[in-house]
Amino acid sequence: MSDPKAKEVEDELDEYNSDDDNIEVPDKKVEDQKDYHFSSHAAGFRDLLLKPELLRAISDCGFEHPSEVQHQAIPQGMLGHDVICQAKSGMGKTCVFVLAILQQLDPEKSPKPAAVVLCHTRELAHQIAHEFKRLKKYIPAITVEEIYGGMPIQPQREKMKKDPPHVIVGTPGRVMALCQEKSLKLNQVKHFVLDECDKMLEKADMRSQVQKIFIDTPHSKQVMMFSATIEGELLGVCKKFMHNPLEILINDGSKLTLHGLQQYYVELNESEKNRKLVDLLDALEFNQLVIFVKSVNRAEHLKRILVDCSFPAAHLTSGMPQAERIETYQKFKEFQYRVLVATNLVGRGIDIARINVVINYDMPENADTYLHRVGRAGRFGTQGLAISFVSSSDDANVLNDVQSRFVVNISTLPDEIDAHTYM
Ligand code: ADP
Repeated sequence: MSDPKAKEVEDELDEYNSDDDNIEVPDKKVEDQKDYHFSSHAAGFRDLLLKPELLRAISDCGFEHPSEVQHQAIPQGMLGHDVICQAKSGMGKTCVFVLAILQQLDPEKSPKPAAVVLCHTRELAHQIAHEFKRLKKYIPAITVEEIYGGMPIQPQREKMKKDPPHVIVGTPGRVMALCQEKSLKLNQVKHFVLDECDKMLEKADMRSQVQKIFIDTPHSKQVMMFSATIEGELLGVCKKFMHNPLEILINDGSKLTLHGLQQYYVELNESEKNRKLVDLLDALEFNQLVIFVKSVNRAEHLKRILVDCSFPAAHLTSGMPQAERIETYQKFKEFQYRVLVATNLVGRGIDIARINVVINYDMPENADTYLHRVGRAGRFGTQGLAISFVSSSDDANVLNDVQSRFVVNISTLPDEIDAHTYM
């Protein structure tokens, strides 16, 4: 907040909002739901009164019932209300805004673009665009484009000028660049989404990009925001973008715990990490496994060690060319690699159903990052295993924070774990 640039744009945002009509919507606060446990909601998607084309696509995806958060948020979202939604990892938050937007879009009448979805990494933008494409399968006239940096800007520029899509899914830097040069016009946008909203608004740089894009859109539009972690000051920042939103928030950290996920730690020295990792990879059964490290160099280095030991490993970091990043993500998703060494780049949002083990080779920097990382295993209520290497007092502090904030007991790794309990 102290960044003068961010302050300037924030003032601009206040000004932008000041002449808004405050549309009153009945009390829409859903806090600390009765049980945020993994149960999906008994009522079916049919009860949400979605378009038949969407119901068919949902059924093709194999989704039987909406999750609790989908049951709560989709009905308001599809009526065009603002929504701020916190729910634990893997509960299908993406589906909430994808369905809410697709339900409201009319391929013949809706402006282009009618919806802008922003997220913090290019891989996540790719994944969200894919979710739109899956669910709009039976409404092919709706068009969706991914817009992010690291790819040539010229084709994106021409596409946005000549034939913009209904839905843009992108990262803020490139979207803002296209807006500023007027290739992309957002003056008819009706839906504005921030996924991983706390991450997008926490740092001044990304926040000011988001704000600049937001200010290019009309006053009257729907705003929806999502994350597993939206706390304190950031909640206030998020709400500055919204009008009387439906609030689905979780005040009690224990309700963010993934119940299908077993969590352990190993205390060791830095120099013992490689040996321990290789032993674990030999001993554990897994479908796919992600190893988180704290830097690009460490990811490259560790991947080389694992490949030399004949493990089918790839690495994914921001140090790689963009095309290679998406290709690696795609190949991992298609099960061409079993082991991925990654930085926090894939710590949030990335959804790969076969990941059932996460190893924190380097402990994350804080409890929120821990929660997002381990959430890569155990998607949508499935079982999983998370093991963290603790090699310093800072690591131990983060582990303690995690245990107290999310009311979870993380014990030392036992000599043996029955694979049936996490597979
Ligand atoms: P979140 O954003 O809450 O972390 P995602 O939106 O990535 O979660 O969804 C997690 C996984 O669950 C995805 O693979 C998604 O396709 C799947 N999913 C979403 N909704 C349902 C549902 N109702 N039934 C079964 N699977 C679902």
